[in-house]
Amino acid sequence: MNFSEERKFELMRLSIEQAKRTKLAELATQFDSSKIIPLVGGVLVSANGEVLTSAYRGETSHDRHCEQDLLEKAKGVQKADTSLFVTLEPCIYRREVVPCSKLIVESGIKKVFIGMLDPNVLINGMGKAYMEENGVVVHNYFEQFEKEIMAMNAGFIKKLQARDAEDTK
Ligand SMILES: [Zn+2]
Repeated sequence: MNFSEERKFELMRLSIEQAKRTKLAELATQFDSSKIIPLVGGVLVSANGEVLTSAYRGETSHDRHCEQDLLEKAKGVQKADTSLFVTLEPCIYRREVVPCSKLIVESGIKKVFIGMLDPNVLINGMGKAYMEENGVVVHNYFEQFEKEIMAMNAGFIKKLQARDAEDTK
């Protein structure tokens, strides 16, 4: 990996811009009302920090995660020297499809930069741990970006907290 700290900041910034493209209201109508959807964006970059492709949550279909679309778009790309930037920790639990942390490991990507951990109790830190156990170096950009990403996802976080409070009653 041959790019500067400054470039890493720019790349997380680009990921945030992608996340803002998530059409929450539109997605909400395609699920039942209990579905809790975050804004998520990401970019895949070369060893020199050039953007190879980008994606956001629900870009191609309401039930596809950002990382799924991103990896689909980057199908022909040799992943070993690439780095993935994504605003939210990749998931490790999904009912019917392979979770994104596993997709990332299988793709051969070796470096992942995440903007914040997923506050969902079914994922929180476990996506990160799964990738690390499987040879991926995971960098946190918590301090620099977490506040902004949390603010962007305030509705998502609030709904998760309400659900968790309900579950423990
Ligand atoms: Zn996912």
